[in-house]
Amino acid sequence: MYTLTNPATGDLVERIPNSTDEEVQDAIERVHRGFSSWRDRPVSERAAIVARAAELFAERSDELAETMTLEMGKRINEGRGEVGVVVDIFTYYAENAAALLADEPLTLKSGPAVIVKQPIGALLGVMPWNFPCYQVARFVAPNLVLGNTILLKHASICPRSAAAIERVLHDAGVPTDAYVNIYASSRQIPAVLADPRIQGVSLTGSEPAGISVATEAGKHLKKTVLELGGSDPLIVLDSADLDETVRNVATARMRNCGQSCNAPKRMIVLADLYDDFVDKLSKHVSDYFQPGDPADPATRLPPLASVAAADEVAGQIATAVSQGATLRAGGHRVEGPGAFLEATVLTDVTPGMDAYHEEIFGPVVVVFRAADEDEAVRIANDSPFGLGASVWGTDQARMRRVAERIESGMVYLNRAGGSVADLPFGGIKRSGIGRELGAAGIEEFMNRKAIRL
Ligand code: NAP
Repeated sequence: MYTLTNPATGDLVERIPNSTDEEVQDAIERVHRGFSSWRDRPVSERAAIVARAAELFAERSDELAETMTLEMGKRINEGRGEVGVVVDIFTYYAENAAALLADEPLTLKSGPAVIVKQPIGALLGVMPWNFPCYQVARFVAPNLVLGNTILLKHASICPRSAAAIERVLHDAGVPTDAYVNIYASSRQIPAVLADPRIQGVSLTGSEPAGISVATEAGKHLKKTVLELGGSDPLIVLDSADLDETVRNVATARMRNCGQSCNAPKRMIVLADLYDDFVDKLSKHVSDYFQPGDPADPATRLPPLASVAAADEVAGQIATAVSQGATLRAGGHRVEGPGAFLEATVLTDVTPGMDAYHEEIFGPVVVVFRAADEDEAVRIANDSPFGLGASVWGTDQARMRRVAERIESGMVYLNRAGGSVADLPFGGIKRSGIGRELGAAGIEEFMNRKAIRL
C-alpha cells in the first residue's frame, strides 16, 4: 500500500493499493517494447524532449514543491530549490547530449577503431522519499537521453510525487512506453529483476535495500548502480570567522531536516577551535532551528518524513546518551502531532558507541575533537561509509591535501552537501557503487561498443 500521511500533522491523506503482479508484468512489457522505438529516435529528438521536460519542471515547480511538503514534510522553499536542481539536471543532459554520446575514434597499434555509445534497454529505478524529484532526475535524465527506457518504483510514502513526475515526462513528449511508474512493493522487485526484459537497476536508498536489490540483480547478472547511506565527515582546520563557519555548517547539516545522504553528519574540529565551535554551534542550533509548519516559508526546521523516522532518530540519540555521549542541544521529540524532533548536537561520541558508526538520518550533529590534521583524517576515515566529505579552512593547499587523504567519493572545500548537474555524485565503501550526474552518470547503463574498423 502506498500511504500518504502528512508528517506535519499526522493526518492520513491517501492510500493507493500496490500494483498487482499483472500490472507489473504489463509495465515491464511496455518499457521492453518501448525500447526499440525510443533508442532509434535521433539523439537530438530525445534531447529536445528532455529539454522540454526541464521547462515543464520549472513551470510546475510550485505544484511539485507543495506535493513534497505534503508527502514528506520538506520546507516549501527547499522544495522549490530541489525542483531548480532538477531543471538543471534535465537541461545539462539535453544540452550536452550530442557531446556525451559522440563516437570516440581510437587509433590502435593495429589500426583504427571507434567506440559507439548505445543504450542497453529497459531499466528499473528504485527511489527514496528524501528528495522525491531530484533522486529520480539523476537516474532518469541521462538514461532517457541515452535511449534507455525506465520502469520507476518510487518510495511508498510519495505516490503523488511519482505521478507528478510521470505526468511531466509524458507531457514533455517522453512516450508512455518509455517511462512507466509502478506502485510495486519491495516484495515484487525480485521478480522484476529476474525478468530478462529488464537490463539493469539503479537504487537510491538504505543499505538493506541496496543489499537486497544487488543480491537479486547479481543472481541474474544485471548491472547495478547503488547510491546508499552516508555519514559524511566535515573537518574544520581553522576559520577566519568562526560564527560564519558555524552558521554555514549548521545550515548544511539541517538542510532537508538532516535527511540528506551527503549531509555533514560528523563534524571534526581541531582542538584549538573545538570548545568555541561546540558552544557556538549548540547555541545557534537551539536558537535558529525551531520546528514549524513546512508550508510556511519562514519555518527553519520542518518535521521528519514520518513519525517512524522521528522516533527512530530520537531512539538513536537516547542510545548515544545512555552509552555516554553528551547532549549539547535538543535531543527530544516535540510534543504534539507530527514527526517533529529538536535540532540536536552530541559530543563525546566514542568508537564503542552505536552513534560512532551509524548514519543518523535526521537533524543531529555529532562533533569530534581532533588533536591535529592526522587525527582528523583518521576519525574521518573510521567509518563504514564513504560518500562525501568537506574540509573547511583558510589555506587552500592544506585543505586540498586533507581532501586527498579522505576515503570518499566526493570532497567539497568550504561547502558541504548539495550537488550540481555536471559533477559526478557517488560514494565508495558501504555508500554505494557507481556514479550519477556529470559525464560519468550517463555511462553507467551504456554499451560502449568497440568497433574495429
Ligand atoms: P529505503 O527504505 O531503502 O527506501 C528506498 C527505496 O527502496 C524505496 O522505494 C523503498 O520502497 C525501496 N526498498 C526498500 N527495501 C527494499 C527491498 N528490500 N527491495 C527493493 N526495494 C526496496 O531508504 P529510505 O529510508 O527511503 O532513504 C534513506 C536512505 O537513503 C538513507 O540511508 C540515505 O542516506 C540514503 N540515500 C542515499 C543517497 C545517495 O545518493 N547516496 C541519496 C538519498 C538517500 P518502499 O518505500 O516501498 O519501502
